Amino acid sequence: MRVFVVNSGSSSIKYQLVDVVTEQVVLAGLLERLGQPGGDAADHVAGMRVVLDRLGSDAASIAAVGHRVVHGGSIFTAPVVIDDEVVAGIEAVSALAPLHNPANLAGIRAARLALPDVPHVAVFDTAFHQTMPAAASTYAIDRAIAAEYGIRRYGFHGTSHQFVAGRAAAVLGRPLESLKLIVLHLGNGSSAAAIDGGRSIDTSMGLTPLAGLVMGTRSGDVDPGVLLHLERAGLPVAEVDAILNSRSGLLGLAGSADMRDVTAAAGAGDADADLALDVWAHRIRHYVGAYLAQLGGLDAVVFTAGIGENAPDLRARALAGLQHLGLTLDAERNAERSRAPRIISPDDAPVAVLVVPTNEELAIAQAAATLVG
Ligand code: ADP
Repeated sequence: MRVFVVNSGSSSIKYQLVDVVTEQVVLAGLLERLGQPGGDAADHVAGMRVVLDRLGSDAASIAAVGHRVVHGGSIFTAPVVIDDEVVAGIEAVSALAPLHNPANLAGIRAARLALPDVPHVAVFDTAFHQTMPAAASTYAIDRAIAAEYGIRRYGFHGTSHQFVAGRAAAVLGRPLESLKLIVLHLGNGSSAAAIDGGRSIDTSMGLTPLAGLVMGTRSGDVDPGVLLHLERAGLPVAEVDAILNSRSGLLGLAGSADMRDVTAAAGAGDADADLALDVWAHRIRHYVGAYLAQLGGLDAVVFTAGIGENAPDLRARALAGLQHLGLTLDAERNAERSRAPRIISPDDAPVAVLVVPTNEELAIAQAAATLVG
């Protein structure tokens, strides 16, 4: 069974044709600069026609289309087959993700036109975290204001957290329902999730993907008073937005959003880069400790995404000093380069540490396949 996975941005369409039985990518590609001079197409509709051309005879093998949708608000708690009502629902929560949801919808509309005879499925970044208890999802602000503006913790990267948790259980040879896990998704965007018996009970991103860990260009947690302070000092909202979303994180601290640059600079003695890594690791430990407490126990910490999968030194730096919580690495296992999900803690460690490569496209394809049978 083949699922066509679409990740539509405001000026791009990323796509993969995935065989969910063999888990192989049959075909993958990217259209960029839609609507711009010299771009790959004039808009999403034209772009989807280009994609269909590229698919050629493979288009006939598509059993379902899986769409990545960033924000499902409080409406969507699981993947859904897309109909006009679902489109309206995604539209209704677009204010919560003004950059992403309209772009995702443009992809959905174009793909439904191009492939009208197969079911289309929306898979939401937020859905997995809808199981969080109210104590974790509620911000301590005026309840009426929160209700009026939809302000609560939603969390993101849910597709990745859920996929990685499932693979971790398989590697550990134990049912997911019996496991207390902390998943650290450390990429350009980063988030931590506390997963109890396969259900998300807390996560570090919030109303938006700005909260939590130190990211490539995003600040993660700051005192909300920082925003007020900057705005009172006369900075316009758009400027404050750009500072926190686009000019903070590793970029703000060390001058590059790319973790490889930052580690290289730190290795060469750059003090700013070294501090950036300390702040990055300090924040991760903050969440590991918090989630250990929320879970009331811990079976495994799982590293995933670009940094989590590829940077043994940074995994060690993130967990440094947590031996008293049972968190230790086997130096040789940690250093090993592999694409396979694996355990990197010693056999007798009280808490397992794993590396599990994430695969959001495969996860979306599997979710769509499960839904449409
Ligand atoms: P995205 O969130 O865009 O999907 P990725 O999950 O691909 O991002 O992660 C990108 C990040 O992973 C970048 O900061 C990159 O520098 C980092 N990364 C990839 N490989 C390594 C490595 N070997 N060492 C350190 N960082 C790495």
